[in-house]
This record gives sequence, structure tokens and C-alpha cells, in this order.
Amino acid sequence: MSHEGIRIVSKEEEQARNKEPHQLPREAVTPLKVRVLLTEGKGLEIDWTDGHKSAWGFKWLRDACPCATCNDVREAAGLKPGQSAPAPVQLLPMYTPPAKPKSVTPIGRYALQFNWEDGHTAGIYSWDYLRRNCQCAECTALDKN
Ligand SMILES: [Zn+2]
Ligand SMILES: [Zn+2]
Repeated sequence: MSHEGIRIVSKEEEQARNKEPHQLPREAVTPLKVRVLLTEGKGLEIDWTDGHKSAWGFKWLRDACPCATCNDVREAAGLKPGQSAPAPVQLLPMYTPPAKPKSVTPIGRYALQFNWEDGHTAGIYSWDYLRRNCQCAECTALDKN
């Protein structure tokens, strides 16, 4: 059978490829250990197979929700994942507790889904997305260059 070299690329695939020009090595997106510090209310920690360690606070994760709706809101406001929109000015400022998930569900072997206390559950946080948005000092310094 001859191979024509024709490959149908879905629209999503094409978009993902344009957005993410280089693919991360497998070891960089394969978690060795995943810790969700739910009781402490702190955040998520991942030790990767390539030896890198990442940590994200819950607030950051909530503001970085990768679902289509949150993405649109961020894009419209010119915010990066993890940046929160400025709070609306209120006459009587109300205390808003920091974002925290009620539960975290693994999605297959590639992602986590957060069930946020505010009822939002649409975001699927893939290992790839998390690694690309690693908040450690080293990665955020690279980001600024
Ligand atoms: Zn969302
Ligand atoms: Zn890092």
C-alpha cells in the first residue's frame, strides 16, 4: 500500500500547533509526583520526571483556568494565565475568600480537573499546560526575557 503523505489536521490541532511552536520533551510533561495541598489551602505541587519541581497557588490556578470561557475573558482583558482581573470598585468592599477547590479529579493520565468552590469546573489543566506555566523562580525569570 502506498502512503500518499496526506494527513488531515483538525482545526483544534492546528490551533494548538500554532500557539505552541515547540513540543516539550516527554519527561518534562510526565509527573513523577503530584501533591494537591487541599487541606492546607495552598496549591498544587508537581515533581516532573526530568527532575524539575513546580508549584502553583490555588489563586493562580483559578485565574489560569484554561477553559474556553476564562480564556476569552483573559484575552479580552489582556491578561496572562494566572493574572486576575482588577476587582470592581465597590462602595462597601466585600471580603472574597481566596479561591480554593472543593476537589480535584484526575482526567485520564494527562490532566487534572479542579472543582472550584465557586462552582466552576470547566477547566482541564493538562500536564503540558501546567509545565508551560511553571511558576518557579527559574521559569518565571526565563519568561520575562
Ligand atoms: Zn474556566
Ligand atoms: Zn519551573
